[in-house]
Amino acid sequence: MNIRIGMFACPSCQAPSISLWRKVGATDTFPARCARCNGLSFVSAWAHFAGAFVAEGLLWGAAIAALLAKSWALLLLFPVGLVAWSALVGAVFPLRPIARGEVRRARRKTAALLGGGAVLLAVIALVAARW
Ligand SMILES: [Zn+2]
Repeated sequence: MNIRIGMFACPSCQAPSISLWRKVGATDTFPARCARCNGLSFVSAWAHFAGAFVAEGLLWGAAIAALLAKSWALLLLFPVGLVAWSALVGAVFPLRPIARGEVRRARRKTAALLGGGAVLLAVIALVAARW
């Protein structure tokens, strides 16, 4: 078994088999897979939801700070902040086990949402084109 520093324990078998980057990116539609027991796990959608806001805030915060201070070095706040946020997600949000059937259901739901969104956009584009 290959154990590295900074690996998180699989919620199914407790083996430290999940890397920080895999954990931060693990959703119910694309869960992390344990190399030892093949168990699937993911981080709560709230972490990803909050992450989108944090990334947006960091991007604009760093850009505005750099413009105001006239210092391009402040743009580094963005990548540094993202790394800090990833470490925070790794430390605060637990990995939760998820069954294969639930992953399939979550993927169907996401596909339906994306499909619905695409249809809605197509309808709006068609309506706008007639004006
Ligand atoms: Zn495992």
